[in-house]
Amino acid sequence: MTESLVKHPSAANAPLVVLSGVNKHFGALHVLQDINLEIAQGEVVVLIGPSGSGKSTLCRTINRLETVDSGTITIDGRPLPAEGRELARLRAEVGMVFQSFNLFAHKTVLENVVLGQVKVRKIGRDRAVRTARELLERVGVGAQADKFPAQLSGGQQQRVAIARALAMNPKVMLFDEPTSALDPEMINEVLEVMRQLAADGMTMVVVTHEMGFARSAANRVLFMADGRIVEQNTPEAFFTAPRSDRAKDFLSKIL
Ligand code: ADP
Ligand code: MG
Repeated sequence: MTESLVKHPSAANAPLVVLSGVNKHFGALHVLQDINLEIAQGEVVVLIGPSGSGKSTLCRTINRLETVDSGTITIDGRPLPAEGRELARLRAEVGMVFQSFNLFAHKTVLENVVLGQVKVRKIGRDRAVRTARELLERVGVGAQADKFPAQLSGGQQQRVAIARALAMNPKVMLFDEPTSALDPEMINEVLEVMRQLAADGMTMVVVTHEMGFARSAANRVLFMADGRIVEQNTPEAFFTAPRSDRAKDFLSKIL
């Protein structure tokens, strides 16, 4: 055991993300129903389930793009703040990558990765540029730094979006169907970056239909239906022996 673990035994074992009794409605629709979920430091959780089951909403509550009606969410032991400066800082700690890349179209690739560091993290420009270049190299688009997003392929743009999220030095990364909008030949280059990130120890929640990725990179698969976590297990156990009829039915349609 390292010294720091001895000094802070509880902190070392505490889950990084905790959702406890979370409920959310959209009008009459009970979109998240009593969600309880603990995600450990370094854990890779893949979230699957039918369309409309609440996967995106669950992700969005974790970085407070959506409010909840009841229950609590904590990141690294701290409850999600309601608003203001604290919320901006929290959002920086929870990186999010969407299906649509959402890059700033009128800024260069480099500037897309520099901007948040300077504006939110208050990092000096020179250091922010160095970090941005390192991250762009890491995701394999270093040579594209001075181009504009529209000059890149979808796969390259999504890797820039990952670099931009990483530039905020997040504690956890949320991926909501990051490869769904990509042409097939570009899916793997994005999944490969995500696999590497997982291998490097990043805590990740990934909504995806890429079952190969789930099998190879996930520590745990969560299956959602109708706003509930119906079933969860290791990928091996889940894919070979799903327990619920909902999960069996879902897998029979996608595998
Ligand atoms: P998934 O990502 O699993 O497909 P979502 O979380 O996007 O599911 O949506 C879950 C349900 O909530 C769907 O029925 C969807 O239509 C509904 N929903 C999502 N966002 C909103 C919103 N902002 N207002 C009203 N209904 C919403
Ligand atoms: Mg969704």
